Amino acid sequence: MKLIFIGPQGSGKGTEAKIISKKLAISHISTGELFRNITGELKEKVNSYINQGELVPDELTIKILKERIIEPDCKNGFILDGFPRNIAQANILDKITKINKVIEITLNDELAIKRISSRLSCKKCGAVFNTITNPPEKENICDKCKGELYRRKDDNPEEIKKRLFIYHKETEPILEKYKDILITINGEQDIEKIAKEILEKIKE
Ligand SMILES: [Zn+2]
Repeated sequence: MKLIFIGPQGSGKGTEAKIISKKLAISHISTGELFRNITGELKEKVNSYINQGELVPDELTIKILKERIIEPDCKNGFILDGFPRNIAQANILDKITKINKVIEITLNDELAIKRISSRLSCKKCGAVFNTITNPPEKENICDKCKGELYRRKDDNPEEIKKRLFIYHKETEPILEKYKDILITINGEQDIEKIAKEILEKIKE
């Protein structure tokens, strides 16, 4: 089972990808993980872009992804989370593998902004919480490592609006390309309900 998860920031896409990957015993490949776990020459190349605040070029990302999906933990399949993020990437992806289903988790901009502005990250371990959807047990303290929680600088309404604009303009057009294998889920529902619906619809 090879899946792509698509949704705006705040839709819970990453959380759902994690849950579904466990249920289906397939790998969860997020763009962040993809770049973090590479080594050697490729890592230097990728870091040179990231350190300058630039996007890693499509060709390089695909090269890394191509090697990643032949690793043993991907033999049952995988979920791509955060990739492809534009038509050009989707077209290259088609050349290296065949995707079975694309899961779109929808959320309107207003709610996305509300959710992302309530996001908190742990200074120590990087765990992410949300004061609305996934609050920490103790206020401003990480459940996992007891580290201090903080709000990321770019999680303010203006920056979030910019990212949503790019999502609508560049990522959403991919959905048309995959319309025959597309599953659309309402991201306003709670985490468990969304996961249940995804699993049901995948099996149909
Ligand atoms: Zn922590």
